[in-house]
Amino acid sequence: MSAKETGLTPPFPKERNNMEEGTGLRIKLFGDPVLRKKALAVKKITPRHKQILSSMARLMYEGGGIGLAAPQAGILETMITVDIGSGLYKLINPKVVKREGRQALEEGCLSVPGVCVKVRRAKKITVHAQDEEGKPLSIEAEDLLACVLQHEIDHLRGRLIVDYASFIERMRIKKKLEKLSRQAIEESGGIPPEYQIGSAGKKRFQDEILPESETKSCKLQL
Ligand code: ZN
Repeated sequence: MSAKETGLTPPFPKERNNMEEGTGLRIKLFGDPVLRKKALAVKKITPRHKQILSSMARLMYEGGGIGLAAPQAGILETMITVDIGSGLYKLINPKVVKREGRQALEEGCLSVPGVCVKVRRAKKITVHAQDEEGKPLSIEAEDLLACVLQHEIDHLRGRLIVDYASFIERMRIKKKLEKLSRQAIEESGGIPPEYQIGSAGKKRFQDEILPESETKSCKLQL
């Protein structure tokens, strides 16, 4: 996959997102530009898509999540995995076709660790998608499942929970987001601290990657 396809530009080196690594997919953190790109529809399902969906499910379970969207693994194609405890969904080209009612749950995101945002969404939805064999599916979902599906489908449009945060909430999580952005650059092979110019810059960088003491844990990780 080229840098253009992943939407990554330096200092995000190409090789870290190479699909030849197979299981080398990693969860991308807030600040990585891939999370803000629009994913492309899957026109023809290939064994590669099935492989990606399996890797995504593994990443989701390993991270203690109940949902994951392909852009979170650096893949800009419309695929999601969801498991709220009642079985694994691997969905291709999911789309919300009907919305009813309202609910607001505190949502976390595997790409925005340590941040919780109350998000207002539809309470009941109908999603059309394809399974990994290309078979069309229609899923009627309510409550938590509806919430998770909407969260993951948001990811496919480059939309994150932080976009739903109120002004006050934005102020509260601003520092956390700045830290995550730095971490995202570092994890993607950005400029290592020892190569940064100036000792002041170096110290600041090191301070900011220290573990958070007041990290708020969110029950729902999606
Ligand atoms: Zn998420």
